[in-house]
Amino acid sequence: MSSSSHRFGTAVNCMDGRAVDATSQFVRTMYDLHFVDQITEPGMDGQLLSIDDSAREALKRKLSISIVHHGSRHVAVVGHSDCAGHPVTDEVHCDAVTGNCHVIRSIVEEIDPTLEVTIIPLFVHPSDDGSWVAEPVDKS
Ligand SMILES: [Zn+2]
Repeated sequence: MSSSSHRFGTAVNCMDGRAVDATSQFVRTMYDLHFVDQITEPGMDGQLLSIDDSAREALKRKLSISIVHHGSRHVAVVGHSDCAGHPVTDEVHCDAVTGNCHVIRSIVEEIDPTLEVTIIPLFVHPSDDGSWVAEPVDKS
């Protein structure tokens, strides 16, 4: 199968494997996708709060590959608890993710304003049984 016959999603995520795995599982299941491209930095949700022009261009290039070349129409924006790269409370992570969605939306619109791309704010945290799960952040 070529990439065009697979359905891709995208995650703008921390590099933390707990967040990467939980996000991939959630997004694949929720949107019936085969693969989730992961664009990662340590503490990505914190970095996006004050992203500079060169980092923004690098992120735009990565998003473009996922959206244009892989055909992704679902972009998860992720923060997670116990983050070494952005060590703040869970509540602050959720606020960051909500703000990050506006940044990602504006970059996606620069890539191609005609595409209908869903931006999905997620927070990853340990569940009662100790496994790590992704959960949508309430935007209200
Ligand atoms: Zn992290």
